[in-house]
Amino acid sequence: MKAALYKEFGPPEVLRYEEVEDPVAGPGEIVVEVHAVTVNRVLDCAVRAGTETQRGVVLPHIGGVDPAGVVHQVGEGVAEVSAGDRVALLSRAPCLECDQCKAGEFKKCPKSTMLGVGRWGGAAEFVKVPASVAVKLPDNLQFAEAAAVMRHGPMAHYLLFDAGDLQPGETVLVMGAAGGLGLAGIQIAKAAGAKVIAAAGSDERVAVGYDYGAEFGVNYVKEDLTKTVLDYMGGEGVHLVFENISNPNTWPKALKCLRKFGRLVTAGAHGGGKVELDCAFLYHENIRIFGCTGNTEKNVGDTVSLAGDGRLRAKIEKVFPLSEATEAHRMMESDILSGKIILDPRAG
Ligand SMILES: [Zn+2]
Repeated sequence: MKAALYKEFGPPEVLRYEEVEDPVAGPGEIVVEVHAVTVNRVLDCAVRAGTETQRGVVLPHIGGVDPAGVVHQVGEGVAEVSAGDRVALLSRAPCLECDQCKAGEFKKCPKSTMLGVGRWGGAAEFVKVPASVAVKLPDNLQFAEAAAVMRHGPMAHYLLFDAGDLQPGETVLVMGAAGGLGLAGIQIAKAAGAKVIAAAGSDERVAVGYDYGAEFGVNYVKEDLTKTVLDYMGGEGVHLVFENISNPNTWPKALKCLRKFGRLVTAGAHGGGKVELDCAFLYHENIRIFGCTGNTEKNVGDTVSLAGDGRLRAKIEKVFPLSEATEAHRMMESDILSGKIILDPRAG
């Protein structure tokens, strides 16, 4: 098969479109013919650059954390999926060898690895994975769309409901609204009957937030975020802040948008990660702050079903053939994009 492989860490040019041996499904595994996989700033580009040394990437390596495609081969003992099924693949792959895996408790595997980081991923014509990571897709959900929504949808569900306890009729302030996680947050909150305020760092990005269903938008570079949100809310503040930037300028402003008993949920620190916390506000207003990385099977199922009926859409910037993976990585690193970049191995 062809793959976008690299044998050394470095700039996008270390990626080589070359022939590697076809994977073969062992017991409990499947081989999937990849139709789409996303390119991500950290999980693909920073890993390839060699700056994510703590992740223990072994060379030569093939990235690609969230492929979607068609089941091509099924190993011994696999009953959940059959050849020909359309699937998306979850990134966290169990080892299949430990006691928990042998008992079928794949989620509890202590030696699980991340697809495309700790093991070869989907930037290839085929990818081999444990069958338990496959999620069947409805026929009307395109593969590029599926790869992109599965990247952020389950986590957005977890943040909004499991951590944030969002209720119908409440108002949520979505920070970084035009990013992948932000756009998922807007649509999922709206589908649950909540109202959404989209906050972003440029008028164009605020406009994207409106396009995806926000009822109000704030450009936090031009306007005072707290004042604008409180004015819009009639002075009372929002119920939930959906944070994913951790920028030292915007984070304290976002926190102050909360009403009494408000919640702030956060996942992501690309804006710096260290922020000031007004503890007097925190305790006087009975605020709760949650950070989390996980998601549940229900979050995954809810994502697939919302995407299947068109209420959760990804913003796709560009689809590149796999042979142009270098170009795709360059674009990811050079631009401030709001849409996802996708690789399609079947396009060459
Ligand atoms: Zn295991």
